Amino acid sequence: MAKRTTKVGITGKYGVRYGASLRKQLKRLEVTQHARYTCTFCGRNTVRRHSVGIWNCSGCKKTITGGAYALSTPAASAARSTLRRLREINE
Ligand SMILES: [Zn+2]
Repeated sequence: MAKRTTKVGITGKYGVRYGASLRKQLKRLEVTQHARYTCTFCGRNTVRRHSVGIWNCSGCKKTITGGAYALSTPAASAARSTLRRLREINE
């Protein structure tokens, strides 16, 4: 199918309302919140958002906690790498 919108994408549903900057901010959230992510358990691209911070894999039926609008956040990956580093120092 031909690409209908040049820049508004999913936020085209809001028409001309709410201001261009707000729609631009919201676009990033809506795109990441509706995207499918790769499951770390079964490797399939089937993880979808269930509700705020809760993600479900339809492949292996696992439920994963994550970011509110994306499966992983910069803060979460920073915390994970810090924990890993500290654990390795401890050993
Ligand atoms: Zn899975």
